[in-house]
Amino acid sequence: MPKVIVIGGGLAGLAAASALAEAGFEVDVFEARPFLGGRATSYPLNSSSDESETIDNCQHVLLRCCVNLLDFYRRLGVRDRVKFYREFYFIEPGGRISVLKSGSLPAPLHFTGSFLRMPFLGLADKAGIARALMALRRERKRRADLDRISMLDWLRQKRQTPRAIDRFWRQVLVSAVNEDLDRMAASHGFQVFWLGFLANAEGYQMGVPAVPLRELYAADAWRRLGNVRMRFRTPVEALGSAGVTAGGGLHTADYYICALPFERLESLGLDAPKFEHSPITGVHLWFDREVTTLPHATLLDRTMQWMFNKQGGRYLQLVVSASRDLTPLGRNEIIEMAIGDLRLYFPRVAGAKLEKAHVVKELRATFSAAPGTGPLRPGTRTAIPNLFLAGDWTRSGWPATMEGAVRSGYIAAEAVAEAAGRPARFLLPDIA
Ligand SMILES: Cc1cc2nc3c(=O)[nH]c(=O)nc-3n(C[C@H](O)[C@H](O)[C@H](O)COP(=O)(O)OP(=O)(O)OC[C@H]3O[C@@H](n4cnc5c(N)ncnc54)[C@H](O)[C@@H]3O)c2cc1C
Repeated sequence: MPKVIVIGGGLAGLAAASALAEAGFEVDVFEARPFLGGRATSYPLNSSSDESETIDNCQHVLLRCCVNLLDFYRRLGVRDRVKFYREFYFIEPGGRISVLKSGSLPAPLHFTGSFLRMPFLGLADKAGIARALMALRRERKRRADLDRISMLDWLRQKRQTPRAIDRFWRQVLVSAVNEDLDRMAASHGFQVFWLGFLANAEGYQMGVPAVPLRELYAADAWRRLGNVRMRFRTPVEALGSAGVTAGGGLHTADYYICALPFERLESLGLDAPKFEHSPITGVHLWFDREVTTLPHATLLDRTMQWMFNKQGGRYLQLVVSASRDLTPLGRNEIIEMAIGDLRLYFPRVAGAKLEKAHVVKELRATFSAAPGTGPLRPGTRTAIPNLFLAGDWTRSGWPATMEGAVRSGYIAAEAVAEAAGRPARFLLPDIA
């Protein structure tokens, strides 16, 4: 069977490896770190203790419309380890909660009942949002400038109220695309709302892994797939027509898939666009008692954007996407800010003792999905006929997300299969 070397054991590389292995290829994955998952992974909180609990670098969530990611989990036999929620909770300072959920009407009207009842928006905000959603349905295939204008430009064209922009559009999109509305190409905002909210009644459901991310890609899963060999702690140092140099040796294969972040390509002598990064900050807080019973909530009007209840309302994880404002702040300042914000939503925080806290600043979380970047994302093929690219920054059809990474891996795997004369389809179409 043809042999493939995959460079990088993040979701893009792993998706390619799983698909090719199932199709019978022999696959070697070279990963620099001692574990899999790349930017979507977990590690021991205290690396010097074997007993230490494992935490995710940051809460990762998906929507049910992430069909390729779910297909990848299926391949690994871990699809049932993702728990899906049908309700979104918007919570205001003071604690008032609005629930968004699908009702009995068919798509795209399935949110009508809960949307009309949500108290955090006024009538004028809601009427404007409804108008804009209808325009989005009409314009998504017709407008040629959506990659060039920002989502904020588009929302202003549609005369959205400041409250609708801040509390609805920004709240949903900044975390979905990891970029501010004025720096996000409108095409990404369109895609999230079309696939997640309009195209069908289930696409919006939010999936939260019920196990640490790393367990999703554990070694057992790979044994089921057969022909995949993981080479941990083996950073690839050079890549040329003769093969890859790693771990002090030269390794050859029939095909190569480079699934590294774009900023790593130059060191291997490959061209890549120089995108700007957009950071994400995760704040982990452990309290001595339960401070909330909500499983998750999006937090309105403050710095912290999302709360995930990781363990009995005592261990909470907060997430701030496009978190440039937090970059210059120190750990303690961020923790204080997080606790200050939380008190406004969950009064029980005031009486609780913080037992420990951990802050993760991922400065290179994703590339910035700015207007104009779409056409710069490369496809999978390169000037070298047996070398293919994958990664969330390549032209996957999605923003930099786990779904985008898996899609890029499947696209690269299809290109390898075709080059090997064994064409195969791995990429699933979007559900809309
Ligand atoms: C904090 C944070 C929160 C996020 N939240 C979400 C979310 O909620 N939902 C969502 O869908 N997405 C989220 N994302 C985005 C998502 O994690 C990424 O889009 C996706 O994981 C990228 O996968 P990838 O395989 O393209 O790249 P990576 O995960 O970066 O994989 C690249 C791999 O290559 C390895 N590597 C690097 N150099 C070498 C070398 N020389 N040789 C061999 N191996 C090498 C790295 O160790 C890594 O394992 C988040 C990202 C971050 C950082």
